[in-house]
Amino acid sequence: MATVRQSRGFAGAVLKLMRAGDYELTVTDRHQIGPHYLRLSFAAGGLLADRAVHPTMWIRLWFPDGERLHQRGYTLVDPDPAADTVDVEFALHDGVAARWAQQAEPGDTIEATVLGSNFALPTPAPAGYVVVGDTASLPAINSLLDAIGDAPAHVFLEAAHAEDRLLPVRHPATWVDRDGDALVDAVAAAAFDAPDHFGWVACDNRATRAVARVLRDDYGMARRSVKAQAYWVA
Ligand SMILES: Cc1cc2nc3c(=O)[nH]c(=O)nc-3n(C[C@H](O)[C@H](O)[C@H](O)COP(=O)(O)OP(=O)(O)OC[C@H]3O[C@@H](n4cnc5c(N)ncnc54)[C@H](O)[C@@H]3O)c2cc1C
Repeated sequence: MATVRQSRGFAGAVLKLMRAGDYELTVTDRHQIGPHYLRLSFAAGGLLADRAVHPTMWIRLWFPDGERLHQRGYTLVDPDPAADTVDVEFALHDGVAARWAQQAEPGDTIEATVLGSNFALPTPAPAGYVVVGDTASLPAINSLLDAIGDAPAHVFLEAAHAEDRLLPVRHPATWVDRDGDALVDAVAAAAFDAPDHFGWVACDNRATRAVARVLRDDYGMARRSVKAQAYWVA
């Protein structure tokens, strides 16, 4: 009987041509951190070996959906190269990746590719940070806040659900309920003269663009002082 190979489509072919390394991660544990937020622990399959880890580092996971695999970005949480383990935190919604995570059990495996993640803290150190995101970027934001230590940080987070406000954040944050432009408006309302600050933004595509504009126009940050990346498409 012919085996049906799962196709990774065009993106997968391009990544293969670029010789992206492929790894197999194995689920070892589940922690339901909130009703809409799940942390999975993985044996990393060598993914962390001989690799420098940076704040906000993310990988591409390949989620099965019938015959196809869909690639989605996810952030490394507590990567431990010596133990070859890593966690991933999933904001839960109705999507292929989120559904896979909700059903994942110890022993389940998933393919991973390391390609495209590159971030370093700005040098010289800025006077402070303005950090804007939601539960999808919370793992990255926590790794960023860990890395900047005691540097002043203004953190704005969008809550999709009331319980999101209880999720662990490394630094006091202003939570804003997801409601149209409420997050963008809150960031704009708190504007101060901040040309010496660094902005880090990761929300849905529309909010990311709008917040980045606010940081440039209302906070006076230079374009190069704002790292903005859409984490999901609304
Ligand atoms: C660099 C990078 C790092 C990321 N790290 C993480 C991470 O650590 N944890 C994490 O949870 N996400 C992370 N994301 C976001 C994640 O990749 C997206 O949310 C992705 O779209 C989820 O795929 P899905 O198959 O579940 O949903 P999709 O099939 O992409 O979308 C299905 C539906 O759900 C909606 N949707 C998608 N994502 C969200 C969301 N977060 N909230 C509400 N609605 C949504 C879409 O608009 C669509 O209507 C990261 C993204 C990037 C680019």
